[in-house]
Amino acid sequence: MDECLFCKIIEGVIPSKKVYEDENVYAFCDINPVAPVHVLIVPKKHIPGTNDISREDDGLLGNMFEAARKIAKDTGVSEDGYRIVFNCGENGGQSVPHLHMHLIGGKKLGWG
Ligand code: 5GP
Ligand code: ZN
Repeated sequence: MDECLFCKIIEGVIPSKKVYEDENVYAFCDINPVAPVHVLIVPKKHIPGTNDISREDDGLLGNMFEAARKIAKDTGVSEDGYRIVFNCGENGGQSVPHLHMHLIGGKKLGWG
């Protein structure tokens, strides 16, 4: 996906602050954090959004949650708690059309 921002970040064409990487997943600090910890966890495979996930991605999603658990521990938010968010489409506030999990923590989060 030549024009995809997150594909370019995964490839290293656009720099990012890497937090975690494995064979299938890349994670980096959000450029505009909403909390002390705000990490984006993305599959290396280009999937536009949650509507485009299929059962063949089951393992990949498990991989993303495993990465989230590790990052939560490494950043010290695992015990106090954190939020995982997938935004989808216009009403969901998705601005980058490459599936990404927000891992947000480090402060008490409001809702609504
Ligand atoms: P969305 O709004 O699609 O759920 O989340 C996209 C996120 O990507 C936003 O929180 C935004 O701050 C972040 N973002 C957008 N462009 C860049 C970038 O070039 N680098 C990094 N690290 N984060 C970005
Ligand atoms: Zn992409």
